[in-house]
Amino acid sequence: MSQQGYVATPPYSQAQPGMGGYPTGFGAPPPQSHYGHYGAPAQPFAPQAAGMLKTAASGPSGMPPSPVSVQHGSSIQQNGAHPQKYPPLPADSAPAMSPYGQPPQRPYHSMPQATPPTQQITNQMSAMNIGGYAPNPIQSPQSPTSSAAPQPFQMSPPTPMGHAALSPQGPQLPPLSACPPMAASPPVGVPPMVMPNCQPGSPLMGGGGFQPQAGPQGFPQQPGSYGGQVPGSQMAGPPAGAFPGAFPGGAAQMAGPPQKKLDPDSIPSTTQVIEDDQVKRGGQLYTTNLRGQVPPFVTTSFSVQDQGNASPRFMRCTTYSFPCTSDLAKQCQVPLATIIKPLASVPKNETPLYIVNHGEAGPIRCNRCKAYMCPFMLFIDGGRRYQCGFCNCVNEVPVQYFQHLDHMGRRLDMYERPELSLGSYEFTATLDYCKNNKPPNPPAYIFMIDVSYNNIKSGLVKLICDELKTLLDQLPKEEGAEGSAIKVGFVTYNKILHFYNVKSALAQPQMMVVSDVAEMFVPLLDGFLVNFEESRAVINNLLEQIPDMFSDTNESETVFAPVIQAGVEALKAAECSGKLFIFHSSLPMAEAPGKLKNRDDRKLVNTEKEKTLFQAQRGIYEQLTKECVNQGCCVDLFLFPNQYVDLATMADVPAHTGGSVYKYSNFQVQVDGQHFLSDLRQDVKKSIGFDAMMRVRTSTGFRATDFYGAIYMNNTTDVEMAAVDCEKAVTVEFKHDDTLSEDVGALIQCALLYTSISGQRRLRVHNLSLACSSQLSDLYKSCETDALINFFAKSAYHAMLAQPVKVVREILVKQTAHMLACYRKNCASPSAASQLILPDAMKVFPVYMNSLLKTPALVGSAELSTDDRAFHRLSVMAMGVEESQVLFYPRLIPVHSMDVASEAVPSAVRCSEERLSDTGAFLLENGQCIFLWLGQACPPDIIQNFFNVPSLAHLGTDMSSLPELDNGHSKKLHSIICAISQQRSSSTKMVIVKQKDRSEMLFRQHLVEDKGLYGGASYMDFLCYVHREIRQLLT
Ligand SMILES: [Zn+2]
Repeated sequence: MSQQGYVATPPYSQAQPGMGGYPTGFGAPPPQSHYGHYGAPAQPFAPQAAGMLKTAASGPSGMPPSPVSVQHGSSIQQNGAHPQKYPPLPADSAPAMSPYGQPPQRPYHSMPQATPPTQQITNQMSAMNIGGYAPNPIQSPQSPTSSAAPQPFQMSPPTPMGHAALSPQGPQLPPLSACPPMAASPPVGVPPMVMPNCQPGSPLMGGGGFQPQAGPQGFPQQPGSYGGQVPGSQMAGPPAGAFPGAFPGGAAQMAGPPQKKLDPDSIPSTTQVIEDDQVKRGGQLYTTNLRGQVPPFVTTSFSVQDQGNASPRFMRCTTYSFPCTSDLAKQCQVPLATIIKPLASVPKNETPLYIVNHGEAGPIRCNRCKAYMCPFMLFIDGGRRYQCGFCNCVNEVPVQYFQHLDHMGRRLDMYERPELSLGSYEFTATLDYCKNNKPPNPPAYIFMIDVSYNNIKSGLVKLICDELKTLLDQLPKEEGAEGSAIKVGFVTYNKILHFYNVKSALAQPQMMVVSDVAEMFVPLLDGFLVNFEESRAVINNLLEQIPDMFSDTNESETVFAPVIQAGVEALKAAECSGKLFIFHSSLPMAEAPGKLKNRDDRKLVNTEKEKTLFQAQRGIYEQLTKECVNQGCCVDLFLFPNQYVDLATMADVPAHTGGSVYKYSNFQVQVDGQHFLSDLRQDVKKSIGFDAMMRVRTSTGFRATDFYGAIYMNNTTDVEMAAVDCEKAVTVEFKHDDTLSEDVGALIQCALLYTSISGQRRLRVHNLSLACSSQLSDLYKSCETDALINFFAKSAYHAMLAQPVKVVREILVKQTAHMLACYRKNCASPSAASQLILPDAMKVFPVYMNSLLKTPALVGSAELSTDDRAFHRLSVMAMGVEESQVLFYPRLIPVHSMDVASEAVPSAVRCSEERLSDTGAFLLENGQCIFLWLGQACPPDIIQNFFNVPSLAHLGTDMSSLPELDNGHSKKLHSIICAISQQRSSSTKMVIVKQKDRSEMLFRQHLVEDKGLYGGASYMDFLCYVHREIRQLLT
């Protein structure tokens, strides 16, 4: 097995010797090329040698049912993109001080420092070397940049520029109600302040522009404004408390000429874009027969019919049209990536995947690249041979698989075989695909409960034990199976471990204690992992006894690594894969391997060493990860901390074994019990595959280079996952190593080998064909903002383990400006530089990017707990596109004015404080929490209807649930919450927030269009800043 170490997270960045006992040679990793990525030394992007160096996995397969008829076409659907023009933005647009008493203005540190003109200004986009991800960006004087790109408002008529089709017809922005009275550049033949055809809400048809009066070159330099253009000498010094490179706060500090408040409706609205897509494509059947077709948004409800390409539920791309050459890719810097959720749930109205069995010989695969039989294979020579769509190798068709071709050259049995006509299907795997050539045993779930003082006292142990009595009846089972094949086992621990024999023949469970935690072993084999059905009486007896057994414990010290060790040893002994459910509360400080100490040091925030806060302690945890992956042992961690627990280290094994981490700080049964139980229920019940190996193959000219997720990489191509469940997604980035052809397009095949919950070895295959174009405009038209932000979040959160967080933020901002500047230069009609022009498919990208910059992980605030930041970082790493979309742009729903008679969820409003009202009530959901925010002047009848109390003052502050009352408003509110919960894969915590209460801070940090509570710009300010950067790039 070839070993090249460019991979993954730092602790695992070295290639390891092979593991896993798989006989296959998953092939030689291709040569590397880095461009524009975190941490990579800034290197010129040189196209790689064209050689194909793909290899194979070994593989399995049968006789399929008949899918629907399919038509393959190579036509590319354009989804009507066109340039979007937005009025220039005032540099200072933040609303005046909020009525909420924002925290003091913080430096806006998410922005890069001023860039020396020599570095940033070049006339040739193609010559730019921006976003080279140099670890040390420009060190200009540590002063706030100054600013304010005076951005005149100029609407120029759209002029065709080799893109006749690009007529602006999309939602054009209404003119701003006020514009800063200054202009950077003199009006270009346009009378100032003229806006013909420029009515609010109507498309800007042309002719004139809105040109603020020409003024001096921009704003006078003021502290607090944006900009990087002015020489350092003109910059004001940093405001007190600003750290190096910080941006001064914003609006409120600016001393510019008085401005009227800018109409926030004038900048692109995410809620509007979401609604438009829902109107345009909602409720439709999306058929996947076209190459390069852009699917509806993740927020749109639609059904999928597989006609040759994988459903967007399984694979979603950042763009559906790849640039033909690496030069074009480098030029635009739009990441080429796909987010794969290989086991995604399929709605009931869509066809589940067919299972194909190719018999003893296993699935049919290309001899050279080992790609699996799929619709991209071209049958020739009367059906006796086929040409591989990935490597072009011509293969013999096995005798038993031969079929005649029709006059179109298609096999006569094409529509009877899923692997010839569908994008996604499964093969049954043969023994070649099993560890040690033996069929796997069904997996096991081991419940490992910390019974130290805190967990006993809080009532948690009793809560868990009571729940398991009923929950274990709902272990997942194979479709059609009578019972679950999954075995269960139980361990309790504090600083020693207790194993339980729950064999069905026993009258009473038996406890076996292991106190030598340094040499962990499993003291019993027979009777530890059992079938719940058979051992129900003994298990219930045990669950009844556990809380009592430890009720008078004084033990507060715990171990942790030995617990994982015990779990993986138990699975090894039973020769099965499985999952550990660990319920743990404190920093493991007892003398034992993996003992941790408090290393939280918030003084490191915003220093070069900040990254160490997020790096896991290595040593035994690294070793455990390898053992777990090797055994197919997934670790799920339920944490109940009252203080710092070094989450970065404790969650390290889960984060590399396809596990999930849940965190309930200061857990109280009454407040958090239900939320925890619903998380536990969903986790136990969800569909999952074990001992998984994923391989992504591509057609010639490009290849997968980077992988992000709850995964483990032992080499550069094989993605190992101890387990993968229906929510876990892997984000894969591609780079060119040759030229792509417009005729052939770009083909991707993702193959996931895994063990099902009943112990069957399966191979799931997803195929996707993308368009290729030598026109960048095609790429921009086919972009998917939600997928882009998923990619950027994961790559940034990965990069922050190796680079200062500040550098990562700067790279993100630069790349944003670069992508948009390249569009402007190459795809948009010529127009005044002062005008902000965004690609239609990316017009709300800036708001998402700004939200990402303000997330706990990236914001760099010492006020946030280190564990919270690490937790946020890790939970995003395994997210799919739906989850990251709503996390970065939460849904804010007014519920005070809802139509009780209607079944629909009320339309969301923009995620900004400005949309709230004192007399209103709003729900905010981000996939993790649902807040119910109540304005302080919320009418008593609303409060009465929702809570059955006469006024807001009667509401307790610690409410975590909503009573179900017998009135229309209460029922409607519950139905909305229920609809939201059903859309989300994980359970959401309910938080009730009164305006101006202390807890309002929690809510307000999710208002992503506003200035961040812990730093970071408002949407408007960010857009201004990016616009200014774009203008510099274009100068
Ligand atoms: Zn091939």
